[in-house]
Amino acid sequence: MTITESAVAEFGRDLRAPVSSPGQLAHRSALMQLEKAGEFLGLDKGMQQLLATPRRSLTVAVPLRRDDGRLEVHTGYRVQHSLTRGPGKGGVRFHPATDLNEVTALAMWMTWKCALLGLPYGGAKGGIAVDVDGFSRAEKERMTRRYTQEILPFIGPDKDIPAPDVNTDETTMAWMMDTYSVSVGYSVHAATTGKPLTVGGSNGRATATSRGVVITALEAMRHKGIDPRNATVAIQGFGKVGAHAARLFAEEGCRVVAVTDVTGGIQQDRGLLIDPLIDRASQGGVLTELSGFGDRISNKELLALDVDVLVPAAMDGVLTEDNADEVRASLVVEGANGPTSPEADAILADNGITVVPDILANAGGVVVSYLEWVQNLQAFSWSIEEVDRKLTSLMGAASQTVWALAANQAISLRLAAHALGVGKVAEAHRDRGLFP
Ligand code: GLU
Repeated sequence: MTITESAVAEFGRDLRAPVSSPGQLAHRSALMQLEKAGEFLGLDKGMQQLLATPRRSLTVAVPLRRDDGRLEVHTGYRVQHSLTRGPGKGGVRFHPATDLNEVTALAMWMTWKCALLGLPYGGAKGGIAVDVDGFSRAEKERMTRRYTQEILPFIGPDKDIPAPDVNTDETTMAWMMDTYSVSVGYSVHAATTGKPLTVGGSNGRATATSRGVVITALEAMRHKGIDPRNATVAIQGFGKVGAHAARLFAEEGCRVVAVTDVTGGIQQDRGLLIDPLIDRASQGGVLTELSGFGDRISNKELLALDVDVLVPAAMDGVLTEDNADEVRASLVVEGANGPTSPEADAILADNGITVVPDILANAGGVVVSYLEWVQNLQAFSWSIEEVDRKLTSLMGAASQTVWALAANQAISLRLAAHALGVGKVAEAHRDRGLFP
């Protein structure tokens, strides 16, 4: 099928049109991936259009009184891409590049991710287009609470359950849960996931995404004949996902030779000392200001390092046709959502580089979000061992299914993962039927 005949192109975005923002690139990538999966599955045009279209897209104004008295108005979003297999599920990000296109793409990826992992959810995502650098805690709290109030009619344990994402954390989720609870008049722990342990958070949620990245990376290393104890790893992003992933890779015996944050980062061929690095970074420091760990490295240089495993764990759209040819890793494990454009995917494949796709590699977070929600609904709490056991088993099973389909059909892991996710959602649509 050519793009001109494409059902998705007709209904969604013109996939040939040039993109001029990270959000447009993400949306275009998500639609092209869906189209490929739809084609592979033989889905008819109507079904492809149904799957390409978000169920609900909400744009809200988020007025904020800054500490100095100024009034600012930011734009917030919540997109529920699918509610077919269960309530919406997905994170909330605070980032200046956030827009409706990006949130739509991210919501779509949540739908396939939840379906692939067999979680009883649809897919959703939210965010505010704002640079929170320099915001006080009180400013972040007011903004979070006002955003929550604006989207309140659309969220809740049976409707759509927010979670942390870029620049949001367990404190953000506690404020969102509290705002929801105060508004209905009683405590609703299951209204958000990724909360602190004191208000219904789950053991193991904070490190779950990183744990999933490492589980799927180890599985990929096994398939590629790479011994983890001799493997070198470079990680872009030293936040919630990247920092814990670095520690867990090191625990598996891998040599983490470079990490970066938004400012750039550090390279040390002998292997970085991860725990002291995390300690220093968590005191508020950026990596390029820390001395004594290794040599300076830019984000561009990190992506081109000659390592076994490259983990983009920061933002979407970092590997494109402009730089994919520079990648020298054997494996790319996508800790972030949407780091690789379809053009970059093709270049990496041509160069024999295996990509473990985001909807599999970073699914550990939403898996433990699901476990947290289940515990909240039962007013029950599992031990860290129980949570890790369930996480490992769900991630391992999904990973094996994706690798098996990719091998049987001689397709990429990305297409296999999307075909499995998209296929389950299409089946659910067929079984439920169309109203009226
Ligand atoms: N923001 C994470 C993701 O992109 C977690 C979502 C969730 O736990 O609902 O998968």
